[in-house]
Amino acid sequence: MVKFTEASQRMFKNVFVCRRCKTKQRATSQKVIKRLVSCKKCGCRALRPMRKGKKAAK
Ligand SMILES: [Zn+2]
Repeated sequence: MVKFTEASQRMFKNVFVCRRCKTKQRATSQKVIKRLVSCKKCGCRALRPMRKGKKAAK
C-alpha cells in the first residue's frame, strides 16, 4: 500500500484555493466553513479545498 492518503492529507489538509484568483491559502476548514477567511489577494470568501480530483500533484 502506498501512503498516499496520509501524505496528501498532510499536504492539502489546511490549504484552500480562492475560486476567483486561485491563490492558495492556508486556513482551517472550520474557519472556511464559517467564512472567517477571505482571500488575501482579492478579498473574496469563496474558497475551495485544494484537491480537485487530480491525484498527481505537480
Ligand atoms: Zn482571491
